[in-house]
Amino acid sequence: MRLLTMFVPKKNEPLSLHTTYRIGGPARLFFEARSEEELLYAVDWAGREKVQTFILGKGSNVLFDDRGFDGLVIVPLLGSVSIEGLIVEAGAGVSFSYLGIKTARLGLSGLEFASGIPGSVGGAVFMNAGAMGAEVSGSLVSVDVIRGGGTITLLKSDARFAYRYSSFQDEGGIITKARFQLTRDPEAADRQKKYLAYRMRTQPYDKPSCGSVFRNPSGLFAAKLIETAGMKGRGVGGAVVSEKHANFILNTGTATAGDVLSLIALVREKVQEQSGILLDCEVQCISYDGQIRSPYSHHLF
Ligand SMILES: Cc1cc2nc3c(=O)[nH]c(=O)nc-3n(C[C@H](O)[C@H](O)[C@H](O)COP(=O)(O)OP(=O)(O)OC[C@H]3O[C@@H](n4cnc5c(N)ncnc54)[C@H](O)[C@@H]3O)c2cc1C
Repeated sequence: MRLLTMFVPKKNEPLSLHTTYRIGGPARLFFEARSEEELLYAVDWAGREKVQTFILGKGSNVLFDDRGFDGLVIVPLLGSVSIEGLIVEAGAGVSFSYLGIKTARLGLSGLEFASGIPGSVGGAVFMNAGAMGAEVSGSLVSVDVIRGGGTITLLKSDARFAYRYSSFQDEGGIITKARFQLTRDPEAADRQKKYLAYRMRTQPYDKPSCGSVFRNPSGLFAAKLIETAGMKGRGVGGAVVSEKHANFILNTGTATAGDVLSLIALVREKVQEQSGILLDCEVQCISYDGQIRSPYSHHLF
């Protein structure tokens, strides 16, 4: 029974080790799947044992509960990349930033914006990650997804992409592979370097964060609204609103999920008071019992 011996989940693994926020208590069980077979086995096992699961990419858009997660966290470490002509196929576990840099350096355009986004390909598809006016859905062709015990291929139109949205957020499924169609452009590498330099200049990469906490309201910038509400530099416990980019809430070293949630609630309140706009969260907050919630209240966890 080869697969049985390969499915050995870790117990009480600190999720703070697997998130860019460096926040989160222990996962009751934690498993890194190195093949689709291992992934299928882990999901099937959890179903049989009635253990709830959470699929984790590189943990760059999640805020786990300080108590951790009462179930099995599965990380699909599927790391293959193949490039044939203009078609790029990447496993869900591939670094999205690496893919953006690699393709741009090969003179392929479409994913330059990905450089510096610290997520996985799976997480980027799930979130329809974007920057510099581009997003995943711009060049995505199709996605392989595990659903109902088997793998299916979905076309871009099936995923109903919108701003930071894909239908996977409502319909579930484990993304195992994504295919992109790029274009040839000798200036792709220069553009990618320019985008990365801009990111480093304008965003705080020196402290743990989840990137932008709030979605931009239509036609507006959340960062500008937060700054105008006087929230730059405001903090709760170890969490603080970045002085460099007001839509980033940083972990100064001791922040708990509770600190971040309280600060999120405070920022929302002050922005609403000042502008009448209620900000919506981009970060996914995962409670101990596995609920994915928008942290509109700091009483959630
Ligand atoms: C410094 C910094 C800068 C950032 N800049 C940007 C930016 O410019 N633009 C942007 O859009 N985002 C940005 N982000 C946010 C984040 O990097 C993206 O949302 C990224 O796409 C998340 O990928 P991940 O692998 O880390 O996903 P995770 O955080 O691990 O997971 C996010 C969600 O995706 C789901 N998921 C992950 N993998 C899979 C899979 N294989 N199958 C099904 N579901 C899956 C998870 O269950 C979870 O609900 C930034 C974050 C940081 C820390």
